[in-house]
Amino acid sequence: MQVSEGAQNVTGPAVPEGAEALQSVYGLILEQARDGIVVQDIEARIEWVNPACEDMYGWSLEEMRGRKPQDFILPANERPDREALENFRYDPESPLFRRYQLSRNVRRNGQVFWNQQSFAMLDLGPGAHQKRVVVTCRDVTDQVNAELALRQIQVDLKRSAHHDDLTGLANRKKLEDYLGSKLVTDHIAQGKFGVLVIDIDKFKDINDTLGHGAGDATLKHVARALESHCAPGDLACRTGGDEFLLICLEPGNKAALIERANAVLETLAHPLDWDEQAIRIGASIGACLPERLSDTGEALIQRADQALYSAKARGRGQVVCYTPHLGQVQKAQQELARDLREALVAEQFEIYLQPQLRLSDRRICGCEALVRWRHPRRGLLLPSEFLSAADGLGILADIDYMSMNMALDALAELHAAGFDQMTMAIDVSASILADVNYPGLLDWGLQMRGLRPEHICIEVLETTILDGSGHDIVTAVERLKRLGVRVALDDFGTGYAGLSHMATFEIDAIKLDRSMIARLDSDPRNRVIVRAIIRLCTLLDMQVVAEGVETEGQLDMLRRANCPVIQGFGLARPMRREDLITWMTAHDPLPATKPFRIAPAPVSSPIHSLR
Ligand code: C2E
Ligand code: CA
Repeated sequence: MQVSEGAQNVTGPAVPEGAEALQSVYGLILEQARDGIVVQDIEARIEWVNPACEDMYGWSLEEMRGRKPQDFILPANERPDREALENFRYDPESPLFRRYQLSRNVRRNGQVFWNQQSFAMLDLGPGAHQKRVVVTCRDVTDQVNAELALRQIQVDLKRSAHHDDLTGLANRKKLEDYLGSKLVTDHIAQGKFGVLVIDIDKFKDINDTLGHGAGDATLKHVARALESHCAPGDLACRTGGDEFLLICLEPGNKAALIERANAVLETLAHPLDWDEQAIRIGASIGACLPERLSDTGEALIQRADQALYSAKARGRGQVVCYTPHLGQVQKAQQELARDLREALVAEQFEIYLQPQLRLSDRRICGCEALVRWRHPRRGLLLPSEFLSAADGLGILADIDYMSMNMALDALAELHAAGFDQMTMAIDVSASILADVNYPGLLDWGLQMRGLRPEHICIEVLETTILDGSGHDIVTAVERLKRLGVRVALDDFGTGYAGLSHMATFEIDAIKLDRSMIARLDSDPRNRVIVRAIIRLCTLLDMQVVAEGVETEGQLDMLRRANCPVIQGFGLARPMRREDLITWMTAHDPLPATKPFRIAPAPVSSPIHSLR
């Protein structure tokens, strides 16, 4: 006999011939079939089973004959009761006879397996007792298990596509689907929608100092805290590294949403045990509620983000709810940031120069370079309107370099115009001082223009020295001093312990702050202090420049206090460098007839907010 691959090699009795022979072949096939075959009467009593069926069930034909399979192959808890078993009859119309049946059965040894059965009704005559049911059975446990495993993989994949692996919270994809769902759009349309955007304070520090394990534990801690404040239908989501979101479908009013946010902060504040230490977790939260029916979920999350930004700026651990005003402020800040970056490229910065007067001989001995931004739409802007934003954007040093170069150009021009003893004061920020290349670039700038370093005075703010940002200001000042430029302490009197800095730094000059000069007229104690500072500086061989001198009275007092140099609107406002040469020609030396009072702001100047 030809045996195909996978088939059993049948060795049986010799095959007889004719109809009888055919009968024996059929018998042989049934005997040797791999599928189990059961012949039952109409009431399901087993009459015959083939050997494959015996193997499958673990019972012999003799043991099974006359019994109904439901009585012993179904798991114990699924077996019909005695009465149902007794009364069972096959219904020829039953769908049982039209499709495969898959059921969990048990073998004699208790092993459960998946049995795929097909039922066929044989009519051997008109009487019911002449009907037979032939059941073909196949153990499909392996296939079913493979299918179940596949299905589980599909479920897992679907889950991981919508959930964050670490925390188990919804991810961005899930958030997108959720925001597009009818549930959410209906809620927004009814104004019942609240967003909380949560950002862990100092998460980077936790990661850096305690390790990634602690970082992960922190993220899970936050996730559990959020889940504990999730009402049915709400969505807690991890949208980024340490950014989380809680969407509330019934947030109540603004006060209720803020209360919920504070409750989240309280839950978060429960210390997290990590490696025998307690991690304390703080967070900032931005909140937002719909204002218009047309608001979208995405727009609301963006607004909550803006509120979060403001919460962080206010000093962490805070909840801030979005308001239109907050939105406007941030929009203006974003515009300013964008314009500032463009301004750098388009070179929209200029310097204005404010002259300084030496009182002993009424000569103009120097000037200070003050940066201005010629904004294409807003006109000329003062440093107070953009320097701190530039600092936040990390471009303050770039602006300082531009100012420095423009100031050096201006000084070279002044010298060339015959004012060759003029000095130039240049303001610097902490960021440029921290740049090790700065002294070298300044030196190069001086050499290129044939300028001498002693004609330059670098003004360092007292607050820069005090800011404790880690920049080594002492070393930076030393490097400048080695170059031969002079260094002044700016805004002297506004910081703390100004005098102590005189000992720490080798300062050449101080700039007496405008606020001290303004109080000269009205505050006798202040007058004594100013006089004492000037005397002390003279003893220490330090230059003093009084800033913001506006009136004849202030000038008089400073003269009597032997203040060497003054600067202020009383002498002249800051002006364009081309105007300074004209002005110098008329005012150096300063005519005794020149009235000393605040010069009006130039009419053409678009500056509205002169200090
Ligand atoms: P500062 O160094 O104290 O500069 C003096 C400021 O006082 C200037 O303001 C000047 O216009 C103003 N001022 C001078 N005399 C008078 C007066 O009599 N009355 C009044 N009310 N104000 C007077 P400005 O130009 O707005 O500069 C503000 C600050 O911006 C400067 O204060 C300085 O700290 C900073 N700054 C200016 N240019 C630069 C720069 O290029 N880089 C850096 N890092 N800072 C700069
Ligand atoms: Ca200054």
